[in-house]
Amino acid sequence: MKPHEIEVGKTYHNGKQEGRYRAWKVLGTDVEMIDLSTGNTRDDGVVFKFIYGPFNNYVGTLSLESFARLAEGKVVTDDQYIPARFPVEEGTYKCELCDKWATHYEYPIQDDPEFIYAACDEHWKEHDETNQGTL
Ligand SMILES: [Zn+2]
Repeated sequence: MKPHEIEVGKTYHNGKQEGRYRAWKVLGTDVEMIDLSTGNTRDDGVVFKFIYGPFNNYVGTLSLESFARLAEGKVVTDDQYIPARFPVEEGTYKCELCDKWATHYEYPIQDDPEFIYAACDEHWKEHDETNQGTL
């Protein structure tokens, strides 16, 4: 995205699928930070919180330019449900709908952040076909 499109309070995502999906909520802009590549301070830092992904709830800082480069799109509203799907090792979770081992899970689930939804390949396929075009 363009640097001028990055706004405080909005959430941006990296446009990747499944386990590589990331989203970050911008907590502040024009923040003073140290640029490690030059060793100088700069005042266009973007402070953001990881919303989806392995660093969920961690806070990071990047220059506006670098953040804009990572951001592929804006999450339209903060409560929009965006499935973040992760692969799981066989034998970790059972499919919610049958007796097979789950291959992927989604987390967090809308309205229930503690819940991990896991399913087998066939049921993910069914799920995706049902939900196609609804997002
Ligand atoms: Zn299943």
